[in-house]
Amino acid sequence: MTTYDRDYGRPVSVEEAQRTLRDIRGVDVDYGAPLVSASVESMKAYVPGRPWREVARELGIAEAELLLLAANENVLGPSPLGVAAAKAALGDVNLYPDGAASALKAKLQRKLGVDPARIVVGSGSNEIIELLIRTFVQPDETVLTGWPSFVVYRLAAQAHGRDAVLVPLRKDRYDLGSLAALVDHRTKLVFIANPNNPTGTYASKREVAAFLDRIPKSTIVVLDEAYFEYTDAPDFPNGLVDFPGYPRLVVLRTFSKAYGLAGLRVGYGVMDPELAEYVNRVRQPYNVSAVAEAAACAALDDDEHLARSRRMVREGMSYLMEALTALGLEPVPSQANFVLVKLPVPGDPVQAGLRQRGILARAMSGYGMPESVRLTVGTRAMNERVVAALGELIGGAR
Ligand code: PMP
Repeated sequence: MTTYDRDYGRPVSVEEAQRTLRDIRGVDVDYGAPLVSASVESMKAYVPGRPWREVARELGIAEAELLLLAANENVLGPSPLGVAAAKAALGDVNLYPDGAASALKAKLQRKLGVDPARIVVGSGSNEIIELLIRTFVQPDETVLTGWPSFVVYRLAAQAHGRDAVLVPLRKDRYDLGSLAALVDHRTKLVFIANPNNPTGTYASKREVAAFLDRIPKSTIVVLDEAYFEYTDAPDFPNGLVDFPGYPRLVVLRTFSKAYGLAGLRVGYGVMDPELAEYVNRVRQPYNVSAVAEAAACAALDDDEHLARSRRMVREGMSYLMEALTALGLEPVPSQANFVLVKLPVPGDPVQAGLRQRGILARAMSGYGMPESVRLTVGTRAMNERVVAALGELIGGAR
C-alpha cells in the first residue's frame, strides 16, 4: 500500500519505489496493456465549430456579415465593463492569479447572497462538470442524465472511465420521473440541464422539488443553470434559493452566455462547503486566469449589458416563434437564448444551406434529432435574415 504524507506525499528511496511498483503491478508486468482505457477508446472528441474568421474567408463574405448562431453565445458581444476590466488586468499577468478567486467569490456573495465557502470557480462550467466527476464518481459508480442534453456530461464521465446512463427526454423535456426511478445507491451524480440544451425546455420548481425528494442522500444532483439569466417563466426555479435542505444539490452557472464572456472561460458551481472543499483538493491551483476573474467581477456589475441582452433574447424569441411557425416549422418553446427548430426535412443540408448564406446554425443529427436545427437568438435584423433563409431552404419542401 502506498502511503502519502498528509500534505504533499513524501520522497521514497529507489528500493522503496521498486517495492511499491511490485506491490501495485505484481511481478509479471503486462507490457501488452492497451494505450488507453476501453472507455476512452470508445469516445469521439467533441467537435467544436470551425474558426469563424476562416469560415467568413472561405465564403468570401465580410466577417461582420457572418451570423454566429451555432454556439448560444451572446450576439451583442461581451459585457463592456468586463472587457475594460480584462484589459486593465493584462498589466499584471506576469503574476499568477489569486488561486482562490476571492474577489469573484466576494462579488458573487454580494450579488447573489452565496457564502464564498460554497463556491468553486472554474474554467467555464465545463471544468466544474469535469471536476465533479473526477472528485466524486468512484470506479463502480455511475452518472445519470437526460438525452439529448449537454454532451459534456457524458464525455467527461467517459474520459474518466465512468459510465454515463442517458435517459431519453419525453416530449423534449427531462423525464424526471424516470430519472428518479433509475437512481440507485451507485448513482453518484445526476446532471439536469435547466433549461436544457439543445431543447430549451425546463423543469419547474415543483418538478425539481418532487425529484429531489425521491433521491437518496448519497446522490449528488447537479442543476446546470448555464442559461439562468435568460429565463423568465414564473415557475422557473432558482437553484440557489429554491431548494434549501438538500446538501447534495450543486448549481452551475457561467459567464459564457448572458455575460458574453465565453472566450475567457469562467463559470462556477455552488455547493455544500463539504463538497466544495473536496473539489478544491482536485482542481488545478490556478485554474482561472486573472484576466477572466477580473472580467467576470466587472460583468456582474454590468446591469445595462445584462438587461439589453435579456431584452434582445425575449423580443427575438417571440419574433422567431411566430415567424418560424408561420413557415410551417416547429420551434420548441425555450427559456434559453436558443431555439430548437423541428423541420420537415433533414437538418444537415439545412445547416449547409444556411452556412452558404453566411449563417452558422447547429444541425442536431449528432444528438439523435436528424430533422432539427438549433439557432441562437439574435437581433431583429439577424433573426429576419435567418427566417428568410429558412424560407428559401425549406419553404418549397412543405
Ligand atoms: N452547460 C450547458 C447546458 C451548456 O449549454 C454549456 C455551453 N454550451 C455549458 C454548460 C458550458 O459552458 P461554459 O463551459 O462555457 O461555462
